[in-house]
Amino acid sequence: MHEQISERVSPDASSAERRQRLFIPGPTDVAPAVLAAQTAPMIGHRSDEFEALFAKCEAQLRTLFYTAARVYIVAASGTGLQEAAIRNLAPGRVVAFVNGAFSQRWHDVAVGCDKQVVRVDIPWNTAVKPAQVEAALSQALAAGPVDAITVVHNETSTGVMSPVQEIAAVVRRLSPATLLLVDAVSSFSGVRIETDAWGLDVLLTSSQKALALPPGLSFCAVSDRALAKAATVKGRGWYFDFLTLEKALQKNTTPATPAISLMRSLSVQLDRIFEEGVEARFARHARLAERTRGWALANGFDLMAEAGYASPTVTTVTNTRGVSVKLLNAYLARHDMEISNGYGDYKDKAFRIAHMGEVQDSDLERLFAAMEAYLAGQN
Ligand SMILES: *Cc1c(COP(=O)(O)O)cnc(C)c1O
Repeated sequence: MHEQISERVSPDASSAERRQRLFIPGPTDVAPAVLAAQTAPMIGHRSDEFEALFAKCEAQLRTLFYTAARVYIVAASGTGLQEAAIRNLAPGRVVAFVNGAFSQRWHDVAVGCDKQVVRVDIPWNTAVKPAQVEAALSQALAAGPVDAITVVHNETSTGVMSPVQEIAAVVRRLSPATLLLVDAVSSFSGVRIETDAWGLDVLLTSSQKALALPPGLSFCAVSDRALAKAATVKGRGWYFDFLTLEKALQKNTTPATPAISLMRSLSVQLDRIFEEGVEARFARHARLAERTRGWALANGFDLMAEAGYASPTVTTVTNTRGVSVKLLNAYLARHDMEISNGYGDYKDKAFRIAHMGEVQDSDLERLFAAMEAYLAGQN
């Protein structure tokens, strides 16, 4: 076990060779050059060199977030920013739409912050629809103002993507003062999400999913009106206080010591993303998702996500053939690959194939060839 671990923490950074091993929805494989960037010598975080690194990354992130406003970079995983959004922007009531494990977590975060939370359950494996938002928000508004609603764009637990653009339009029409908080942890940079044009107030993501970075950083776009609202809110805390983050951002730095090595990785990966081209990147994810769905159906499986709302970054396959996901994964491990079982209650009833981040068409074909060989042996 230890041998395996030490082997894995010392990749041959000098080699340009990359091999896709992880078809799990995070962490995802990281390109060798991006991993290697972490080994550069440390610098002071109040140095010109760091400020330049920060400014470059933040500008590139604004492009990727489709926002002219700001993107905060924090040393935390995405859940930290779920908490930040709640503490900064929901002093009173928040409506939490729950259609999977990560939207459930956001609900739990709000409860943990002692907020008044209106929970709206949407069946798992289905998307949050504009009509459901309209109904639930109207009902909540009848009892008083709603500070914010929380929606997960891409439910990683089920492989369902919700139409946040249309949801935003409903929220704006019904309640202009209600902020729309969106978690795009597993979809960001895999599919187009236009923060400003769609009117999203917070769009948050983590480093280790579709961005294909090591875990440890998370990023959020925050609208001007959200920042103005935060200024009126008490008990925002300190580490994730948007006003404190904003003050530091104006000086191209962070309030506390940033994860400098991870930011070096971020810088290299952002360059790689723009080198590929964001449109090409989105198209690649759409193509991989379509190929995965086609493979599942052609091999006697079914798809779990509601038709029309399947995720471009992770596909949940209904295990209609009743294969042992554990044994399948043990077989894949011998070929240095790994997929995910279904989430929670779906543990053996489904499996998840992630095709996010660095996954290329040829990687997916290698995975499918191995899966087919395993399945053939089962007959
Ligand atoms: C993974 C995930 C999270 C949790 O992110 P961490 O970076 O692990 O804190 C939240 N939301 C979604 C949609 C996720 O996929």
